[in-house]
Amino acid sequence: MRQARFYAPGDVRMLEVPIPEPGPGEVLVKVEVALVCGTDAKTFRRGHPLLLETSPAPFGHEYCGTIVEVGAGVERFYRGHRVTSANSAPCGHCFFCRRDQASLCEHLQPLLNGAYADYLLVPANIVAVNMLHVPEDMPSERAALVEPLACVLKGLEVGAVGPGMTVGVVGLGPIGLMMVYAATRRGARVIAVERNPHKLEAARALGAQATVDSRSVDDAVQAVRDHTEEGRGVDVAIEAVGRPEVWDFAVGITRRGGVVNLFGGCEEGSVACIDTYRLHYEELCLTAAFHHTPRHVRMAMDVLDRPDFPCDVLITHRYNLEDVVTPLRVMNKEIPAEGFIKAAVIP
Ligand SMILES: [Zn+2]
Ligand SMILES: [Zn+2]
Repeated sequence: MRQARFYAPGDVRMLEVPIPEPGPGEVLVKVEVALVCGTDAKTFRRGHPLLLETSPAPFGHEYCGTIVEVGAGVERFYRGHRVTSANSAPCGHCFFCRRDQASLCEHLQPLLNGAYADYLLVPANIVAVNMLHVPEDMPSERAALVEPLACVLKGLEVGAVGPGMTVGVVGLGPIGLMMVYAATRRGARVIAVERNPHKLEAARALGAQATVDSRSVDDAVQAVRDHTEEGRGVDVAIEAVGRPEVWDFAVGITRRGGVVNLFGGCEEGSVACIDTYRLHYEELCLTAAFHHTPRHVRMAMDVLDRPDFPCDVLITHRYNLEDVVTPLRVMNKEIPAEGFIKAAVIP
């Protein structure tokens, strides 16, 4: 079978390897589709501490496929079932799992990697906790969105995004756009901020009530505030880029007493400066959301099953497995691609 392997930043190769045999608890899936994720693009650009440890490493973690073989002891799943899964599973008994903070589990390994391939071996811990059946009529591209959407739904619990609230979403990659959709569906009024006009248009299609093109206005913070009640700022700001200057921006658009969700992970060693006056005297709440939990993975599957889920707005490009490096380069802005948001890779 063909399998993409990550050797080093900028070096991903397609190899011919034997089809693996599932061990106890594991499942072998024939990949129908894999999706290219921002995390993969970042790894391709600058490496990843967890992948580099074992390089060359199988690559890709968002997928949907059909089970072709199950290992000993697997329950609930059989040959022929269509499945998708998260890319990790919490252990359920460590310090953090016992405190209901499963996204911080200290035993998330082994992670799922290797979706850019003809076949994918799903680790036993993930099969047991975070693998889900895909409804018969759900297209595989849609089902493959379960992992990033689970992160989004967990993120929206920060600040309890709900009806009557004004939410600023800063950065409209696939995650930001799913934030726009899900926050709107929860009854929030969304103001979306981006530099790319195509993505602003996508946000409007997903229900954003106002958009701010941060490249074309002098003062984008003020432009966002102008869209809020009495110009006070948003109730909840969601940063979905992962750069310290955008973290600053998210703080800037938030009202007194509001919540800033620093959702985008910055490069290791990044430092952000916060105005302590605003933090204290304006009671800003600065917080973050990382990864997902089994509960959010299941919620994500329910949301994907809604007829209005905007799969077509999110997955804009399709590539052959052999060309998997192309969408990684597009996401890193090395190659242009008109209207690109997220890509599917089809074996
Ligand atoms: Zn992902
Ligand atoms: Zn744990």
